[in-house]
Amino acid sequence: MKTDVFIAGGGVGGLALAVKLASRGVHVTVAEQLVKKSSAYKGELLQPKTLAILDRLGVLGETEASGHVIDQLRFLEIKRQSGALPEEINLTELNYSRVASSYDHALMVPHETTKEILREKGATYPEYFHYLSGARFLGFENGQAKVRQQKTIQYVEAHVYVGAEGRSSPTRDAMNVRVKRQDYNHHFLTVTIPRPSDFNKGKIITTARDFLGLFPLPDDEVRTVFLIKAGTFKQVKEQGLEQLYQAYSELEPELAQGVRAIEDWKAVQLMIPFTYHVDRYYKGNLALIGDAAHTVHPMAGEGMNLAIQDADVLGELLAWCKQNDVPYHDHLHYYEDVRKPRVKFLLNLSHLSAMVYSVPYTWWRNIRMRAVQRMYDDDQLHVKQMLNISGLGKWNFTLFDRAIQGVSFPPAAGQ
Ligand SMILES: Cc1cc2nc3c(=O)[nH]c(=O)nc-3n(C[C@H](O)[C@H](O)[C@H](O)COP(=O)(O)OP(=O)(O)OC[C@H]3O[C@@H](n4cnc5c(N)ncnc54)[C@H](O)[C@@H]3O)c2cc1C
Repeated sequence: MKTDVFIAGGGVGGLALAVKLASRGVHVTVAEQLVKKSSAYKGELLQPKTLAILDRLGVLGETEASGHVIDQLRFLEIKRQSGALPEEINLTELNYSRVASSYDHALMVPHETTKEILREKGATYPEYFHYLSGARFLGFENGQAKVRQQKTIQYVEAHVYVGAEGRSSPTRDAMNVRVKRQDYNHHFLTVTIPRPSDFNKGKIITTARDFLGLFPLPDDEVRTVFLIKAGTFKQVKEQGLEQLYQAYSELEPELAQGVRAIEDWKAVQLMIPFTYHVDRYYKGNLALIGDAAHTVHPMAGEGMNLAIQDADVLGELLAWCKQNDVPYHDHLHYYEDVRKPRVKFLLNLSHLSAMVYSVPYTWWRNIRMRAVQRMYDDDQLHVKQMLNISGLGKWNFTLFDRAIQGVSFPPAAGQ
């Protein structure tokens, strides 16, 4: 089989790339190993930049209709009290509206729904979009992609081969790039539970030791992310679900009833955060996007967004090559030039967010609380933070910014 661009992996990154290319008249073949929807949790928060990309792909309407709007993130520091309501110590609200853009919110969309929307869009370009379901990419043979679909082996010949297989990537292996991994002192438990219908803001609830992230989904559900010490999942399970119910209820009493919907530990997924970043995004006519190239700490909810943003930039480049009839592989370095620094920046930002929440001492919590509050008090810091996490822009934090957060300098402007 011949195609312009072969994509190994039909996750959010691979599909976004395929839709973009097909919409621009580039013939694309996607090999996806799965046949059915995956039940594994894989991220649901679409940042504003991703919404802008989905808009250009012509699928924003469906995506918005399937999502829950997050216009604000609330950071709530509390004193947890056994058998009593928590005492609020500090509340800071960071608003997406601080970024002057029509994409002024994030969106919580079930991961498989985003993929389905993209697949359906791809199918509207039957001449260019070729999707192989249940097709596992095995590696390269004689410069062609070897794919096993059911029991049949087929070879796909392409001008460019893109590895979008996620964390375990045969394309990355074939490129023989360097990967440096970093692990953390904490893991997360994640589970979706029912929520009251007026519980509709994204919330991070913390004490000196606890962390509970709450991100409302459509249909009165909420994605919850609860921090545990690395390697303690077995112990936590042995303590029983009652302990989990109690922790959730003491941190967020509004979810005291919803959390009891968890009937079995099987519903709770262990999420082990780690990060890596490859040193090369392309070699010859091979390129990597998304988790095949980098994994960020989930704290900032950026992984899926980076994959779609990689796809957007690579797609634009490859479509331009096709349009101008120039060899694809001569221009792949532009993709790396644009994406690598941007991803590195977000990797650092996510790492910093992780550090802010992973030191379980009261003195550290006090520093964190001041730093987050100062981000709200200082107009410029607030805009910088939201611009950076939204993906719509990049504005480096300076030493002066950090001094403001550390309360060495007064905030630049009040709100
Ligand atoms: C537990 C967990 C929680 C996460 N939480 C968040 C979050 O809150 N926010 C966020 O933005 N991101 C989150 N992420 C990260 C996010 O899911 C990824 O960054 C994102 O899905 C990357 O997209 P991708 O397309 O690069 O890879 P993936 O989504 O992993 O897609 C890869 C696809 O390739 C297929 N595949 C793999 N190997 C082959 C092969 N050999 N042949 C054919 N097909 C293959 C897979 O079946 C899959 O469909 C989380 C990830 C995990 C694992």
